[in-house]
Amino acid sequence: MRAIFIAVGSELLDLDRVDTNSIYVARRLREKGILMDMKVVVGDHMDNLSWIVKKACQRAQLVILSGGLGPTEDDITREAVATALKKELVFREEIVSELQGIFKRRGMDMPEINARQAFVIEGAEVIPNPVGTAPGLYCEEGGCKVLLLPGPPNELIPIFEAVFEKHLAPASNYFIYSRTFKLTGISESEADSRCADIYRRYRNPVTTILASPGMIEFHFLGRSRNSDEEARRLTDELAEKVRERLKDFIFAEKEISLPEVVVEGLKARGLSLAVAESCTGGGLGNQVTSVPGSSEVFLGGVIAYANSVKTGLLGVREETLKRHGAVSEATAAEMAAGVRKLCGAAIGLSVTGIAGPGGDNPKKPLGLVYMHLSAENCEQGMRQIFTGNREVVKLRSEYYALNLVREYLNQYSADGKK
Ligand code: ATP
Ligand code: MG
Repeated sequence: MRAIFIAVGSELLDLDRVDTNSIYVARRLREKGILMDMKVVVGDHMDNLSWIVKKACQRAQLVILSGGLGPTEDDITREAVATALKKELVFREEIVSELQGIFKRRGMDMPEINARQAFVIEGAEVIPNPVGTAPGLYCEEGGCKVLLLPGPPNELIPIFEAVFEKHLAPASNYFIYSRTFKLTGISESEADSRCADIYRRYRNPVTTILASPGMIEFHFLGRSRNSDEEARRLTDELAEKVRERLKDFIFAEKEISLPEVVVEGLKARGLSLAVAESCTGGGLGNQVTSVPGSSEVFLGGVIAYANSVKTGLLGVREETLKRHGAVSEATAAEMAAGVRKLCGAAIGLSVTGIAGPGGDNPKKPLGLVYMHLSAENCEQGMRQIFTGNREVVKLRSEYYALNLVREYLNQYSADGKK
């Protein structure tokens, strides 16, 4: 089944409003193997809206509209859809009574204009709105299911769910199975180029790659008309091939964050962590302490922004700073070793870099970051030149630094033996 989503509302074309309803709907449809082919945002304009609805119904088997079901003049979805489907709008007395009841319970009289909400596309099913006034409408026309939902997300969801259960899920003849890989320590383009030749060969499962600062997700969604097992087999086949190419960078295959993976790993091995941060300004400690129970393994850290703190608290040598600079492999190494000693931790982790926008020079470009892990039996540094603005460079640094800990922990078996 092909689906098209139409978000209606001139406010969604403004600069500061975004359509989130389609994201909710797409996620739910996907769970039943119904993929959204297109989504469109249309202002409150009758001709544009009925034109796009007509086109959508010719192309798709499911057209979902959100917004414009309210009582005011700019709420035109009912009328535009009726025009597109060449249907009449019929007045339904019982909806007026229903609306009057809603207002009465709030101790008010129903404003006259709300009677507009009692106009229904001929032949459509009215789906009650448990939290607002605008009911949803559902109709089928020439092999296309058309669903009209109110715009406010808290009203859209229950109405969508009711229709989903009754009309959409049973009509979806797919079994689906999905898998996710979460990666860090690699850029999106690098990850893609390592496995694009594999996943591009498959139209089923569909592969989606999502990148956020410091992290990449690969999603695989397999579909089968025959069985759950077949959907799973198809998905596993592709996922395992991709995993072979990317296994060093995959930190999770479930809903778990990198800081959670690191905290869990430290706990399992009975190791403690301390951090020394320059450019991340506390962000690394924040990542770790955002995990409940991190106090078992996280001792603390030093935000060593100024050189005087790097030398005074962490014991970085003046000479190191003079010879190599604050943003250097040598400084990162001394910061990590210093904080480890200062806090008495098993692992010291440091970050020093140039987050921008100022501070670069020909030898040290913006986004240059050094990270270092220091432990009893291991000194491991890393140099990266990250792209992105200040915030993004900081986040990427935090993730890459945490990934050093993850890699270090991977050298141990789960019970802490090397
Ligand atoms: P109402 O009875 O509230 O007027 P409506 O169906 O007419 O309902 P709209 O007027 O189009 O809905 O939108 C009402 C509000 O719902 C918007 O101001 C916005 O906050 C939210 N909204 C509308 N469409 C979307 C969307 N696609 N994604 C997220 N929020 C939305
Ligand atoms: Mg409205």
